[in-house]
Amino acid sequence: MRFCIECSTILQYQGGTLKCPLCAYVYPIDKQIVTIEHILRKVLDPIFSEDDMKTMPQTSNVRCPACLHSDAYFHEMKILNELSIILYICSNVRCRKHWKS
Ligand SMILES: [Zn+2]
Ligand SMILES: [Zn+2]
Repeated sequence: MRFCIECSTILQYQGGTLKCPLCAYVYPIDKQIVTIEHILRKVLDPIFSEDDMKTMPQTSNVRCPACLHSDAYFHEMKILNELSIILYICSNVRCRKHWKS
């Protein structure tokens, strides 16, 4: 999140740039960064059903940051040509925390 240097309003994404909704300030930003941030925001708020999880692979190489449970479902997502992230979902049914690598 970035703020307008003129009036401290939260800048909003608009047509690949960050713009202040109050004044005319435009934050110069690389288009690819906007895309990555946009995708990451989506990835961080995923909706996997319990049925989806049954088909997901599991790993015991990670530890849940919330409940310290030592295994998790994971899902690798390619978000750009060279960039992929792994999304983990805690396999503790009472926790189900989502986090990314
Ligand atoms: Zn402003
Ligand atoms: Zn957990």
